[in-house]
Amino acid sequence: MIIAMQENATEEQIFAVVEEMEENGVKVHRTTGAQQTILAAVGATAGLDITQFEALPGVFHVHRISAPYKLAGRAFRPEGTVVEFANGATIGSTHVGLIGGPCSVETEDQIFAIAKCVKAVGGEFLRGGAFKPRTSPYAFQGLGIDGLKVMRAAADQYGLATVTEVMEIAQIEPMLEYVDCFQVGARNMQNFNLLRELGLIRKPVLLKRGIAATIDELLMSAEYILSGGNYEVILCERGIRTYETSTRNTMDIAAIPVLKKLTHLPVIADPSHATGRRDMVAPMAKASLAAGADGLLIEIHPNADKAWSDAAQTLYFDQFEKLIGELKLIGQAIGRTL
Ligand code: PEP
Ligand code: MN
Repeated sequence: MIIAMQENATEEQIFAVVEEMEENGVKVHRTTGAQQTILAAVGATAGLDITQFEALPGVFHVHRISAPYKLAGRAFRPEGTVVEFANGATIGSTHVGLIGGPCSVETEDQIFAIAKCVKAVGGEFLRGGAFKPRTSPYAFQGLGIDGLKVMRAAADQYGLATVTEVMEIAQIEPMLEYVDCFQVGARNMQNFNLLRELGLIRKPVLLKRGIAATIDELLMSAEYILSGGNYEVILCERGIRTYETSTRNTMDIAAIPVLKKLTHLPVIADPSHATGRRDMVAPMAKASLAAGADGLLIEIHPNADKAWSDAAQTLYFDQFEKLIGELKLIGQAIGRTL
């Protein structure tokens, strides 16, 4: 952390800032220029709150020069993290993880048909919601554990790993036997108690970016999970809320290469929730792969228009198959398989 003092800062003000820095456990290197004094903090700066220093009299500007996330930062594991699953699938390798499924698990016929389709195109993950965070309390809320049982059965029949959303701490334990990867939805990205608890289990966590979260905030949320000792975290760009209304969210494709630079954690993309529109899923999936995504999460359904949730953004099987064929071609051009 670097603190630039105002040109007219008094010695008393400079001394008060130095004292405050030292009280926070860092060493201070002072440079007195002709016009301005610069104070550089050396040591454990990760926990410092820069706004605390910005408010001090005589301070002009406070700048952080090292990331506040230590475990999620790229430097922690420069080679990158590869998350491995019991069915042999990986996310974070040159092979792109393909996660397909309905927004919600609805019926046995539905989820088995979807599992078959995911497997047929070479996908490794079956994703479906059983505990659903719905905007309206009157909308379908998911089948709960009964939904997970039938999804597990379908995944096992086709050798797929299961991914599903957990909404609260109390659900973790009963979900464990059915789930290979716990999804934390956008609305829960800053549910810090839930993140801490997921840091204590030893199963991968798919952490979605919050609807108004910055990249730093996403990485700090990942840090909560990592700091508990669970290093198997996958990040997901799923669009953010902006003033644009032509898509459900605004997909931040640039977040993918930005995250790949800042963190060693795998980064996947969810063009379904990012756009909310069936016709936009394929172009955004292709753009995400080209931008360096380590995996894709795509909603599919045999009767997409009649899906119990997120119908408008859900692909029919033939659209999904066509898209995967095109993604394989893009993968060839950039050294990645699907
Ligand atoms: C979902 O994945 O079904 C979901 C609700 O997504 P998000 O949390 O990104 O809105
Ligand atoms: Mn959905």
